[in-house]
Amino acid sequence: MNRLQTRIKALIEAAGPIPVSEYMTLCLGDPENGYYTTRDPIGAAGDFVTAPEVSQMFGELIGVWCMAVHEAMGAPDAVHLVELGPGHGTLMADLLRAARIRPDFAAAAKVHLVETSPTLRARQAATLRGLAEPIWHERLDDVPDGPAIVIANEFFDALAIRQLVRTEDAWRERLVGLDQSGNLTFGLGAGKIDPALLPPELPQAKPGAVFELRRAGEAMMAALGECAVRFGGAVLVIDYGHTASGLGDTLQAVGKHARANVLERPGEVDMTAHVDFAALARAAKGAGATVEGPVNQGEFLIALGLLERAGALGAGRSKAEQDEITASVERLAGPDEMGTLFKVMAVTGGISVPGFARLSTGASL
Ligand code: SAH
Repeated sequence: MNRLQTRIKALIEAAGPIPVSEYMTLCLGDPENGYYTTRDPIGAAGDFVTAPEVSQMFGELIGVWCMAVHEAMGAPDAVHLVELGPGHGTLMADLLRAARIRPDFAAAAKVHLVETSPTLRARQAATLRGLAEPIWHERLDDVPDGPAIVIANEFFDALAIRQLVRTEDAWRERLVGLDQSGNLTFGLGAGKIDPALLPPELPQAKPGAVFELRRAGEAMMAALGECAVRFGGAVLVIDYGHTASGLGDTLQAVGKHARANVLERPGEVDMTAHVDFAALARAAKGAGATVEGPVNQGEFLIALGLLERAGALGAGRSKAEQDEITASVERLAGPDEMGTLFKVMAVTGGISVPGFARLSTGASL
């Protein structure tokens, strides 16, 4: 049995079952035995591969987006370039390399990384050596006020959620407790959940239906929206999830590129929940911000010039290298791959940002 599992069982024995949100927070962020705290999960040798690790083109195109946003902001000579959960730092490194074409942006951008994992902070420092002198923050709230361009790729899916389960007479909190043999198991809280916590447009729920409440992500998005309105700038969220708030259990665990049981190896496998883009959009609009999208990742990258960039990158290269670039384009933008599963949404204080027009003139297919 792993150490975190032993500790969670002891906690439940002493104080009773815990909400899914608390379980998820312990699994991912526990300072001693949490998943992100103790390991480097990203890459072929890890548990999952993210878009920046597929190809440099991903970070470069996000760089193109940031330069356009900076220009739309009136090219201020100081802007916070913030990334939430930067992983290996690859996206930021590719973005900054692309930004060399716009020295005014490169000079204005001060890099802030919001990252809780010491392991990944060290990795980010190594990746960004010679490219930037980032300032690390434990929490978004610690980033100083000011105009900001904020990037979050596969960040919101790692934030803790609560799960509410419909029973015959009410909604109840899903809890993690112990079964008769002392193993972790799901159960339900005795108290009834106030229905006001659920969105009004939610479809009629049958007994057993699950609704996921993502307050951590919504609070963060409200703060980001407020910042965009007050100081200017924009926020780019890229993640997998759904575009309308609905019912369904999306909590999942992944280890070594395969699905795993959520309760079996806490802290050893990744745990995520789909992002509810509609809920994030409501939070941003509630703060007075403007929301663009969500659009499919494939659509967004092509509008920013993915195909042109792939062509330029492949020019003069060997057939094998060109095939690899083509495969990366397919992986990032293909309909059966990340292209439709992942969505992109921007939040601004009202400036216009590229990549969200229905008929983009930038793309030549
Ligand atoms: N954006 C990267 C990594 C995605 S994995 C990429 O695309 O490759 C999620 C990242 O978010 C990791 O860096 C993880 O350590 C970080 N993270 C997870 N929860 C966090 C939290 N609550 N606060 C700050 N960082 C967090």
